[in-house]
Amino acid sequence: MSITSKADNMPNIYRKSYLSAVSGKATPRNAIKAFCIECMNYVKSEVTKCDTIDCPLNLYRPYRKAGDTDGKD
Ligand code: SF4
Repeated sequence: MSITSKADNMPNIYRKSYLSAVSGKATPRNAIKAFCIECMNYVKSEVTKCDTIDCPLNLYRPYRKAGDTDGKD
C-alpha cells in the first residue's frame, strides 16, 4: 500500500500526523503515536488499553492512564 492510499483510507483526524511522520517531520513521540493508533485500527481507547507488553513501544505509547502498570504488578 502506498503512503498516499494509506493516508486516503484513514480517519481524517489522524492523516496529518501520519503524513508528518512518514515524511520525517514528526517528533519521535508523535511518530510512535501515529504507529500505535494505526496498530489499534484508529481506536484511541484500544491504545489506552494496550497490554502487549512484549511490544517495544508499549512503555512509550500515547494515551496511557496515570498509574498504568503495563502488566508489571
Ligand atoms: S504499544 Fe500497543 S498499540 Fe502501540 S504498537 Fe505496540 S502493540 Fe500496538
